[in-house]
Amino acid sequence: MPISFEDARSLILDHITPLEIETVSLLEANGRALAEDFIAPWNLPLFNNSAMDGFAVRTVDCAQDNTLQIVDYIPAGGTADKTVAPGTAVKIMTGAPVPGGCDAIVPFEEASELGQTLSVNNGPLKGAHIRVSGEDVSIGDRVLQAGTTLRPWEISMLASLGQTTASVYSRPTVAILSTGDELTEPGKSLKPGQIVDSNSIALATAIRELGAEPKILGIAADSPDSLREKINTGLEFDMLITSAGVSMGDRDFVREVLAELGVKELFWKVNIKPGRPTAFGLKDGKPVFSVPGNPVSALITFEQFVRPALLAMMGHVRVFRPVVKARLFEPVRKKEGRMQFMRVLVKTGEEGLTVSSSGDQNTGILNTLVRAGGIALLPAERETIEAGELVDVQLLGQMNG
Ligand code: AMP
Ligand code: MG
Repeated sequence: MPISFEDARSLILDHITPLEIETVSLLEANGRALAEDFIAPWNLPLFNNSAMDGFAVRTVDCAQDNTLQIVDYIPAGGTADKTVAPGTAVKIMTGAPVPGGCDAIVPFEEASELGQTLSVNNGPLKGAHIRVSGEDVSIGDRVLQAGTTLRPWEISMLASLGQTTASVYSRPTVAILSTGDELTEPGKSLKPGQIVDSNSIALATAIRELGAEPKILGIAADSPDSLREKINTGLEFDMLITSAGVSMGDRDFVREVLAELGVKELFWKVNIKPGRPTAFGLKDGKPVFSVPGNPVSALITFEQFVRPALLAMMGHVRVFRPVVKARLFEPVRKKEGRMQFMRVLVKTGEEGLTVSSSGDQNTGILNTLVRAGGIALLPAERETIEAGELVDVQLLGQMNG
């Protein structure tokens, strides 16, 4: 009995543990997961400062008599040396520290300056245009939790709070092995019957995109000897991914050789289409994925199983693509009893998101994956899904219109 999609995915994630922790520069930290909670060492903003170019004033003065004496000037980076005494104002630039005594900033646009005299058009409200120390982050706040993916936004937070480095999980090294007598390395001339090994480079780029380090091992022939040699090398890495040779063909030796080399298989065959013959095992705790050879199947199973596993290994808490509900544009028929990953066009309109098949869903058709903005998850138990029904869709990052 093939295992269900959900069970396969949980089983994998149950067996993944993050690698070691290292400290890297913030530039290097982008896209990686924070390994420890980050506690704010100071307030943000650090000091009360002006949100506008204008004048620091006392609101009471503006209510009574709107003509004030300008007694000081504070540019950004300057210091507030004088306090705002009754009847006075201080010219101040955005980001400059707010002087003592004042309780509002009047923007240039709302006042007229004549020599050293200021007249305020409209009395400001207390606190107007003052950024108060700690209004964003208070000292001691747990600003970022361990497992957070560091995007430019989080990097900005770390930098604002004085950090130049971050503690993150190490990048796993991932060995990629293509198998098949028909395969030739990209760039080499093709003999009759040969095709290009596109899986190695495709998986390598998918791995690199996640911040892990791919290692292309090359091509193993469909023979136990050739597989044994390459798989032995592959097992020295943090993770091994093999493609092809896991179906029922009489030259599909991958599982056999993995078992011989001590890889304990946790499942083989998942109740999904495409990707049914996918296998997952462990060698001394290291994950080994065997994905089917068809480029579409290989990449979709990578998406579903390997990607979350790799992200978990790198300590990310969020390991899945965003999944949204979208309306099916036209009815779909599928095989009952098996979950289907349908490559879809994702469009947005007045009624929200709509999806429709990106075309031929055969595993041999790569073009429909190239076109797809998402993957619709069609439940195993359904045979037909009607137009207008809501389906779960994994977003791949590019919309179709
Ligand atoms: P298999 O899983 O070995 O039955 O292979 C399924 C299909 O995928 C066959 O048509 C193979 O030629 C093709 N295939 C296998 N490996 C690769 C690869 N690395 N790159 C491109 N196509 C492949
Ligand atoms: Mg094959």
